[in-house]
Amino acid sequence: MDAVARRRLDAIQGAAGRDAGLPVVVWSAGPGPTVAITANVHGDEVVGVAAAHALDDAMSSTLRRGTLLIYPSLNPRGLQQMVRVHPEEGTDLNRLFPGDRQGGGTARCAALIWSDLLARRPDLLIDLHSDSSVSIPYAIVDRATSLRPDARTEMEARLEELARATGLLVLHEYPPEEYVRFRLDRSLAGAMVNHARVPALTLEVGARRTVDPASVRTATHAVLRVLHHADMLVAPPAEPDLAPPSGAWRRAAAPRSQTAGLFTPALPPGARFAAGQVLGTVRAVDGSVREVVRSESRGIVVSWSESPWLEARGVPGTLGLEEQT
Ligand SMILES: [Zn+2]
Repeated sequence: MDAVARRRLDAIQGAAGRDAGLPVVVWSAGPGPTVAITANVHGDEVVGVAAAHALDDAMSSTLRRGTLLIYPSLNPRGLQQMVRVHPEEGTDLNRLFPGDRQGGGTARCAALIWSDLLARRPDLLIDLHSDSSVSIPYAIVDRATSLRPDARTEMEARLEELARATGLLVLHEYPPEEYVRFRLDRSLAGAMVNHARVPALTLEVGARRTVDPASVRTATHAVLRVLHHADMLVAPPAEPDLAPPSGAWRRAAAPRSQTAGLFTPALPPGARFAAGQVLGTVRAVDGSVREVVRSESRGIVVSWSESPWLEARGVPGTLGLEEQT
């Protein structure tokens, strides 16, 4: 007989002063995997907060086995101020993990979050984010660059399997050199994979600064599908509304513009393109076409920027390029 799911409200251990009260909801239903859901490390990405609340609402009737840790906001002051950064120092909390207890306020905060998470011994972490209002939802597979080759292969295969379970587009991270240069190994998911050797996914769903019900549902169901994959739920969640585009894709910046102007996409998010296909145009305010932006290789449109007025060398969006495997 399965255990009854029980809820306990906790807080991040060791958080003091203005960081006091970073909440952790603990749902437990006896032995089984421990999965951590984190959201809102970027304060203006609020779909994940609402999805965390929806998961909390669902667990009493859904969790059959194991433990679900829900961290609805890792950056509550960023949430209140609707800013991406951690307001204390204006820096990106999601490039500082595993943090530094002797460091500045934001690094110290990262360290407190990190030690709280590891003390609860998660088998898997899912970190919820939002990209753009012009995007399709996707799951990111990190590069296990700091692991030895055999461990790396095993970890990346596990991440691929978990990412597929979300039912979202699966996007492999930038190539390893860029991955490290962009400090993505120090994002929460990247550090979990590379420093703690705990599988972790980043999900990017919906627009920033809004709580759009369809995106909340998409994020919630993506998490539920992973929990079902881990055999933790009473019943399978709903199938995805749309099957994700198949194939192996690698995250890449769209080709930079050479000139300033308004970038107008030729293709919607989710569209596939061939090498040399027109992705969009850069136009002056008077309408004259300054530039036609073409793809360099085959891929899929992931998102277009919410800052479509590009300066020269501006990046119009994010693509998934065909991964050569
Ligand atoms: Zn984010």
